[in-house]
Amino acid sequence: MKQSMMLIPTLREVPSDAEIKSHQLLLRAGFIRQNASGVYIYLPLAKRVLQKVEQIVREEMDATGAVELLMPTLQQAELWQESGRWYTYGPELMRLHDRNNREFALGPTHEEVITNLVKDEVKSYKRLPLSLYQIQTKFRDEKRPRFGLLRGREFIMKDAYSFHSSKESLDEVYNQIFQAYSNIFARCGLNFRAVIADAGSIGGKGTHEFMVLSDIGEDTIAYSDTSSYAANIEMAPVITKYEKSNEPVKELEKVLTENQKTIADVSAFLNVSPEHCIKTLLFKVDEKFVLVLVRGDHEVNDIKLKNIFDADMVELADPEETVKILGCTIGSLGPVNVTGVEVIADHAIGAIVNGVCGANEEDYHYINVNPGRDFTVTRYEDLRFIQEGDSSPDGEGTILFAKGIEVGHVFKLGTKYSEAMNAVYLDENGKTQPFIMGCYGIGISRTMASIVEQFNDEKGIIWPVAVAPFEIHLVTVNVKDEVQSSLTENLYNELNQIYDVLWDDRQERPGVKFADSDLIGLPVRITVGKKASEGIVEVKVRQTGEMFEIHTSELISKVT
Ligand code: ATP
Ligand code: MG
Ligand code: MG
Ligand code: MG
Repeated sequence: MKQSMMLIPTLREVPSDAEIKSHQLLLRAGFIRQNASGVYIYLPLAKRVLQKVEQIVREEMDATGAVELLMPTLQQAELWQESGRWYTYGPELMRLHDRNNREFALGPTHEEVITNLVKDEVKSYKRLPLSLYQIQTKFRDEKRPRFGLLRGREFIMKDAYSFHSSKESLDEVYNQIFQAYSNIFARCGLNFRAVIADAGSIGGKGTHEFMVLSDIGEDTIAYSDTSSYAANIEMAPVITKYEKSNEPVKELEKVLTENQKTIADVSAFLNVSPEHCIKTLLFKVDEKFVLVLVRGDHEVNDIKLKNIFDADMVELADPEETVKILGCTIGSLGPVNVTGVEVIADHAIGAIVNGVCGANEEDYHYINVNPGRDFTVTRYEDLRFIQEGDSSPDGEGTILFAKGIEVGHVFKLGTKYSEAMNAVYLDENGKTQPFIMGCYGIGISRTMASIVEQFNDEKGIIWPVAVAPFEIHLVTVNVKDEVQSSLTENLYNELNQIYDVLWDDRQERPGVKFADSDLIGLPVRITVGKKASEGIVEVKVRQTGEMFEIHTSELISKVT
């Protein structure tokens, strides 16, 4: 491809609103442009990277036996009402009307659509297991779209869904897709960890997140230096140092009022509507634990929790009241600072204290605090908040903390959606059974940004070969020079048969060409300059900076 025919609008200046490397570099190197907040145009170079990432994803998914389809972005409200998520998903769901005033959503994910499809089209256990996937644009009205492609409101996702007649079958496919994900991120060149996340109300150990290690990551993970142990750290709010009172709940409410917090503040902070706030809260008031339950949501785990913490139980009928007294949240948003209330447990490990769930869904950010579900805990004192340097729970290494970017998420859904939507098949005995399901997501556009986040230097991006928009940058120093031009053209024709070659045939100063080349970051640069008359060109490896001169005849025989 000739560069003069491309659209690669590079920038010399660092755009002022771009805080992190990948956002800055993707803008500067002419890969993306913002169209609206959290909405981006993928320029030609970015489109090529996306295609390469997608190709890797397709190859690995296909190898698991999954098949590709494409579902609509525009989704009828009825399906979401059937699953219940129309009411619980919150403001992240982009909703709209058609001309007849029918309600729709722009898909943030596709469990409803696919469950409905399989419900209609698959009637017998003989057709199971079945795995389907798509690569498609998703919409989420994120409260804080930021960091460029890392948290967009419109982004590209690969989402897969599997359907089974037994838990064993789900486990098998889950493990295959887990392996496929490991292959995908390894092939993208990423330094990542697969971590255990909390499965929330669904329970069990059926969810892992794939985290790209990066200081700008929004998640904190704990992992073992020498073994495979790795978990997402999710928080359990345990509040202490509160004035003694016989009426702890009223007192907490007072704290909120004193600190001029309102329902709106807290609900905005939580990023959920008031009616979908936390169901169970555990406070430590003076030396006494208080468990606050809302809407009579007594689950077994709440009772367990009460016993473990020897807590007073307070029940609130009105969820809004909970929001009022809240002043803290569970989940990725971190603790809020209400004066006089100190959060003592902002580092509870997901696998040890189940503060929140996988956070794959709006619900999952605030479901029960669940020690005792995945491990045995009988007393509060036995709960250990993991620290760096501790030995890992498997006893085989030392715990390290790292920040991570969630690029993938695999989840055993069980029958959550099939039951809600009455999606059943006939088993061997002719009995109807709900499908057992798994779901598996990869942020394609987020993966591209994560690669840039991990591979760059002060000059620009350093693309790993497997995902580079082009493999070779062929640069003619002076295009007006006949010898240089014709030598480059010959080289281009040869190399282009084997590699993706970007030929800088522009009439620009050499300084501009080299700066752009480093910024764009293709793995290999071949420069045709003054020594063209001798048939000699210069090769530069972007990653190492290694440079050498080589005769074109040798170069061609080397690469072909
Ligand atoms: P996060 O915790 O970052 O909000 P999520 O848990 O809500 O992500 P999932 O529902 O698990 O995301 O979606 C599957 C994948 O889609 C994620 O692992 C991530 O790679 C990608 N993704 C999710 N939200 C966004 C977004 N706003 N912009 C870009 N990619 C996203
Ligand atoms: Mg998440
Ligand atoms: Mg997730
Ligand atoms: Mg999210």
